[in-house]
Amino acid sequence: MTLDDWFDSEAKCLLHGAVDGVGPCARCGSFACPRCVDGHGRCEPCQRREGLDACERTARGVAWKLCVAPTAALLGASVAAKTNPTAALALLPWLVPLALGFVVWRRPNPALAWLGTLTCCGLLAVRVHAAWGGAGWALADVWLLAMPSVAALGGCVELSRQHRALRWVLAA
Ligand SMILES: [Zn+2]
Ligand SMILES: [Zn+2]
Repeated sequence: MTLDDWFDSEAKCLLHGAVDGVGPCARCGSFACPRCVDGHGRCEPCQRREGLDACERTARGVAWKLCVAPTAALLGASVAAKTNPTAALALLPWLVPLALGFVVWRRPNPALAWLGTLTCCGLLAVRVHAAWGGAGWALADVWLLAMPSVAALGGCVELSRQHRALRWVLAA
């Protein structure tokens, strides 16, 4: 270490001690080098933290949308079970997206979010098929249930994108 290095030491990157820092992180103020800093002037640990926060927000958005259709379907099933127990049994697959919704709420996992959303869409398609040609209100009810599921699809795309970006930061 030369005398110049010693005087410069405050301006070194916090993570890569040998590399000159370009400036303080916009979020936490620690010095970051060009390798660490992103387009928003944030250091690597801050990118990771913000990435995780964003992933969790998106996952929760997907999770509650995933739970709407199964909850409505299962409420309907519990009413139907009083008169027709076998019809209620057919609604048990709805427990799958409901359970996945709970898991995704706790852990931002894109694979499980996709699985839950596609299961929801599949079950809705089965319902459309069953209601086709029947009473108009039965279909209206499916379209209402489909809205949060379709919105969840958009959330899944976003979650996958955020998760991929985060993996890149974690691997760096
Ligand atoms: Zn920072
Ligand atoms: Zn660095």
